[in-house]
Amino acid sequence: MVSSSVVLGMLMHETNRLYRALNESHQELMASSQRDGLTGVFNRSYLDAELDKLIAIADGRRRPFSVLLIDVDHFKSYNDTCGHLAGDEALKQVAHTLSIATNKYGGFAARFGGEEFVVVLPGHSSKAAMSVAEDIRERVASLPSTSQCSAPITVSIGHAAWTSIFDKSPKGILGAADAGLYRAKASGRNRVIDIEADMSGISEKYMPPAQTH
Ligand code: GH3
Ligand code: MG
Ligand code: MG
Repeated sequence: MVSSSVVLGMLMHETNRLYRALNESHQELMASSQRDGLTGVFNRSYLDAELDKLIAIADGRRRPFSVLLIDVDHFKSYNDTCGHLAGDEALKQVAHTLSIATNKYGGFAARFGGEEFVVVLPGHSSKAAMSVAEDIRERVASLPSTSQCSAPITVSIGHAAWTSIFDKSPKGILGAADAGLYRAKASGRNRVIDIEADMSGISEKYMPPAQTH
C-alpha cells in the first residue's frame, strides 16, 4: 500500500515535470516563430497579426498609432562592395538600432522583407512618431563602420499616422508609409518624410544636411 502510494507520487511528479518541460518548449517555439531568423526582430506574420489587433483597438477606442517604413539606402551596392555576409551584418546592426529605439519609445520593430523594416508606435501622436523616426535615422547614420565594410549605412523612412489615412486597413497604413518612403528616396535618401506633411508641403524641417556620399 505504502509502496504503491510512493510509485503514484513519483509518477505524478514526473508527469508534472514533463508537462512543464512541454509547456516551456511550446512557449519557446511560439516566441521563435514570431522572430526573423537573421535579425531577431519580429517577422512579417507577427507584424500582420499585430496590425490587425491595433486597428481593432484604434477603431473601438480611438487609440492612434503610427507606422514607420524603413528601407536601407543603396543596399545593393553595399552588398556589391563588401559582400553579402557584410550586408547581413549591416542588417543586424540596423535591426539592433530599431530594437534600441523601440525599447526606449515603446512599440515594436519587424522585418518587412529584404532590407526593409517596419516600426509600429502605438499611442504616439504624429509629432512624437516623427521624432522617433528622426532619432532612428540619426542613430543608423552614426553607426560605426564594421571590420568587414567601411561603406556608410543610412536609411530612408516613410511615416504614416493612423489618424491621417483614408484607407483604414493594414494595407492602407503600410501603403501610406510606403508613399512617404518613396518620397524620401526621391528627395535624396537618408531622410524622414511624413506623408501627410509632405502632401501639404511642410516636410522641409525634417530634411537632414546634404549627403556627402
Ligand atoms: P534604394 O536606396 O533605392 O533602396 O536602393 P537599394 O539598393 O537598397 O534597393 P534594391 O531594391 O535595388 O536592392 C535591395 C538589396 O537588398 C538587394 C538584395 O540583394 C539586398 N538584400 C535583401 N535581403 C538581404 C539580406 O537578407 N541580406 C543581404 N546581405 N542583402 C539583402
Ligand atoms: Mg527596398
Ligand atoms: Mg534599399
